[in-house]
Amino acid sequence: MKTFKTVQLQSQEVEQIVCNMCGCVIQKETFGYLDTFVSVNKTWNYGTGWDGETHSFDLCEGCYDKLIAGFKIAPKPTPEIPCIEQEPECEEPSDKS
Ligand SMILES: [Zn+2]
Repeated sequence: MKTFKTVQLQSQEVEQIVCNMCGCVIQKETFGYLDTFVSVNKTWNYGTGWDGETHSFDLCEGCYDKLIAGFKIAPKPTPEIPCIEQEPECEEPSDKS
């Protein structure tokens, strides 16, 4: 037999995002989405210059534009993935012949 007790769980949610490059607060969009930023999270392997450290940073859209403007090879926009229409359901093979 098990007996249960009530526990409270805590979770975290993003309260604010600040651009690491310019220090600006990244504003929420009309519907509350924070989609005008880039988030990078990189764990460097041992033996690299950062030897096992994890680096995380966020950039606003303007700083992202400045960053990629310095790239020798610009990021390629990927084509939009087309919606896959649902396959029609196959008919069950009939035993009747
Ligand atoms: Zn910025």
